[in-house]
Amino acid sequence: MKPLHHLSATELRDAFIRGDVSAVHIAEYFLSRIEKHNKELGAFLKVLGPRTLLKAENLDRKRSHNQPLGKMAAIPVAIKDNTHIAEELTTCASRFLTHYKAPFSATAVHYMEQEDALLIGKTNLDEFAMGSSTEKSAFFPTNNPWNLKCVPGGSSGGSAAAVSARLALIGTGSDTGGSIRQPASFCGVVGYKPTYGRVSRYGLVAFGSSLDQIGPMATTVADIALTMEVIGRHCPHDATSMDLPPETYPLSTHLKGITFGIPSHFLHNLKPEVRNNFLSAVETLKTLGAKTIDIDLDLLKHSLATYYILATAEASTNLARFDGIRYGTRAKSAKTLEEVYDLSRKEGFGREVKKRIMLGTYILSAGYREAYYKKAQKVRTLIINAFEKAFEKCDAVLMPVAPSGAFKHNTIHDPIEMYLQDIFTIPANLAGLPAISVPSGFDSQKMPLGLQIIGPQMCDISVIQYAYAYEQASHLSTIPPLFEAL
Ligand code: GLN
Repeated sequence: MKPLHHLSATELRDAFIRGDVSAVHIAEYFLSRIEKHNKELGAFLKVLGPRTLLKAENLDRKRSHNQPLGKMAAIPVAIKDNTHIAEELTTCASRFLTHYKAPFSATAVHYMEQEDALLIGKTNLDEFAMGSSTEKSAFFPTNNPWNLKCVPGGSSGGSAAAVSARLALIGTGSDTGGSIRQPASFCGVVGYKPTYGRVSRYGLVAFGSSLDQIGPMATTVADIALTMEVIGRHCPHDATSMDLPPETYPLSTHLKGITFGIPSHFLHNLKPEVRNNFLSAVETLKTLGAKTIDIDLDLLKHSLATYYILATAEASTNLARFDGIRYGTRAKSAKTLEEVYDLSRKEGFGREVKKRIMLGTYILSAGYREAYYKKAQKVRTLIINAFEKAFEKCDAVLMPVAPSGAFKHNTIHDPIEMYLQDIFTIPANLAGLPAISVPSGFDSQKMPLGLQIIGPQMCDISVIQYAYAYEQASHLSTIPPLFEAL
């Protein structure tokens, strides 16, 4: 048998179910990989050793008694640290929540545990998921497994790095403006943002509630499909969760009769290496029988501005609950109630988070609400309409995931330049569309790049199928050389 970390999550599960390997061995194996590599990667904020081993022992017992095993049996899963695991810390990589213990598990986490996943740890992120590099974690930055001097992307950089380096075989992220897809692309793994409402947000610390979605990151598209089968289910605790029967995600490599739309005007300003990589991915899709057409999505040039108005407005209301009283660490020096609020927030939040709260408060304040917030809502509707129109002519839209491969740490200081990282990912959040990032090759620095496939609302299954067909034809999912060995 191959070393365990060379298997996909599905292969590892099957090996466990067949009896080739015990759950305790799997748990010990991945825990020791984390022990060995986490220092250089900074992917995990917390490792759940004893909890993981306990669950593994239970699984071995279940198997030896021939009890039915879940769909994710013995798969080591890493959870982004803005998503609750009951009784464990949820820090959101913020000083404010350093000691905050989750009172319950997020629905997505709960569903995975029900299917016998082995939760292995909580992963690093940009504070409150605001960022694109995981450099804005209040604790430490995460490094990219392909080159430790580079960022892993963000904000779900910890999960992306953990999966890429095979310290876990599935990771979860949250995607408000690209935080699953961009780090997946930077780290050479598959990342999926479901249709808004497909996966419950219950137990995810809210950033921009109308945009946030939890989704999986994995080394293969089949593992993404498996995870979606488990987590893409109705949840009564989230009012925006779609009340639909559970679905299965069949995989096929056929693309005959499928038309992909390409907003080609968007491609003019791309770096040549990113454009070439994108165009060669398009060629691969064509060899599988797909057709491509030009589509007009010129309106998407307003996405970034629209997003930074809506996301900051929603963040400023969502983060108002962190006041040092009910949630968060209370400033020790505070003497009055006013000081508790002021000093706790001053000491607890990092710069980026403060900036967004202030921007959002300004946008929602009397006199500016109409000019910014309401206008942005209208543009959002136009963007939704533009996609709907595009989907009359094509089955899915193709775009790169990000304007470049992973960049070096401490090289992007200009906030606008950082925000531009999400230029290709934000439109899917604004329109609530399912979108996947699948590895498409490497840039001139040998850093991974990703192809993005965006589908109509609710067409999660199709998007995952197209990505599967592409993955099977391209054979690009590989292990970073630094982490290939035991
Ligand atoms: N990078 C974007 C931001 O900073 C998106 C973050 C996200 O998707 N959580 O807001």
